[in-house]
Amino acid sequence: MKKTLIELNQISKRYILPNQTSGSILEDININIKEGEFVSILGPSGSGKSTLLRIIAGLVSPSQGTVLYNGKPIVSTNPGVGMVFQSFALFPWLTVLENVKLGLENKSLKEAEIMRKALSVIDMIGLDGFEGAYPKELSGGMRQRVGLGRALIMEPDILLMDEPFSALDVLTAENLKNDLLELWTEKKIPTKSIIMVTHSIEEAVYMSDRAIVLSKDPARVIADIPITMPHWRDKQESSFTSLVDRIYSILTKKEIKSPDTTGVQKKKMEKVQQVPAGALTGFIELIADLGQKVDLYKLADQLNLDLEDFLPIVEAAQMLHFALIQHGDIELTEVGHQFADASVLDRKILFKESVLSYIPIMEKLVWILHSKSNHKMEREFFVEIFAKHFGAKEAELQMDILIDWGRYAELISYDENAKVLFLDHDSTASG
Ligand code: ADP
Repeated sequence: MKKTLIELNQISKRYILPNQTSGSILEDININIKEGEFVSILGPSGSGKSTLLRIIAGLVSPSQGTVLYNGKPIVSTNPGVGMVFQSFALFPWLTVLENVKLGLENKSLKEAEIMRKALSVIDMIGLDGFEGAYPKELSGGMRQRVGLGRALIMEPDILLMDEPFSALDVLTAENLKNDLLELWTEKKIPTKSIIMVTHSIEEAVYMSDRAIVLSKDPARVIADIPITMPHWRDKQESSFTSLVDRIYSILTKKEIKSPDTTGVQKKKMEKVQQVPAGALTGFIELIADLGQKVDLYKLADQLNLDLEDFLPIVEAAQMLHFALIQHGDIELTEVGHQFADASVLDRKILFKESVLSYIPIMEKLVWILHSKSNHKMEREFFVEIFAKHFGAKEAELQMDILIDWGRYAELISYDENAKVLFLDHDSTASG
């Protein structure tokens, strides 16, 4: 029986929002991570993946619950982990060797020993010959190798990686993934477990032994999937693609709602995805062009979009009832088809009907403008209302997208300079 390295018990995390209400980010997270496991954490953007990783590292404390490392609760930072960040986090004034050595700063080792370890790690991460180079002389991929080296020199039991490949171009990322996998699978590093936050399902299925999928608002574990195919995995093989497909389906499943819960009857202030109407229109056209049902992961691949960018578009299309997701496939609804086939003007009418029927915050905004005799209102007024629900920053983003959608639907106009919204002429007439 493999030893449990990390135990997360009933972890919750809440942040106090600017309006003094508290936002729940993580809720009741229970995860055990054993020796020998390479675990990926997946979930929509902003769901709390990084927060969870930081809680494991002891950099953020949970509002509730405990983190055990080797059976003992962690106090302050977790001594068993080394961390690799997306944005390299190197010191520009230090050389590769000095940056790598930094990992051992807190250990009481002799300089000769530090040097020996540093040179061996630099060799391992493929930067032999670059010891004296400064970060600015290195490519993105090489910089991330230094980031990895700095974590590995500590010989941590657990390597935590927060989207380590997402700032790299595709080929560089592929190269580094394979090098890291080789170090891991051939046990060239003493690391006992790897936990990686990623927004790429394919990356998770390619590299890890287990994928933990989080929901959003708040994040709970909605799936914990073993990935048992031996390395090296073939991305074209059906066992690989069907697993990618399955995870896509899990990530999008929670979005299937019956008309009762998405309809405005409930008046729930649901956030709108940050997808401009133009992008949404293009997306609907593309699905129409592709024919009946399309596999979500193939579509994401075709559009060359990763999860972070792709899920919001899918979710927006669903919110507006233009598309339906089932079993990892997306297909257009009847209105979605009508929209794809319609003229520019008819599209605007269909879009207007959809936003007013299915987007409660748009309905509220239009209702407020209607109820004013001059049919206009400062942007700030809405921002303040929305801030109570979403916090100030998100309220601004919501306003931007509502203005974009409202303009496209010819529901509202917006005076950029005065920051005032008006009800469009036709909308006032139609009451
Ligand atoms: P992910 O890594 O899945 O994209 P994060 O863990 O970065 O998500 O963030 C989850 C949510 O927590 C986001 O809505 C973010 O705005 C919020 N959040 C993160 N850190 C803080 C903080 N220090 N104060 C308030 N909210 C925060």
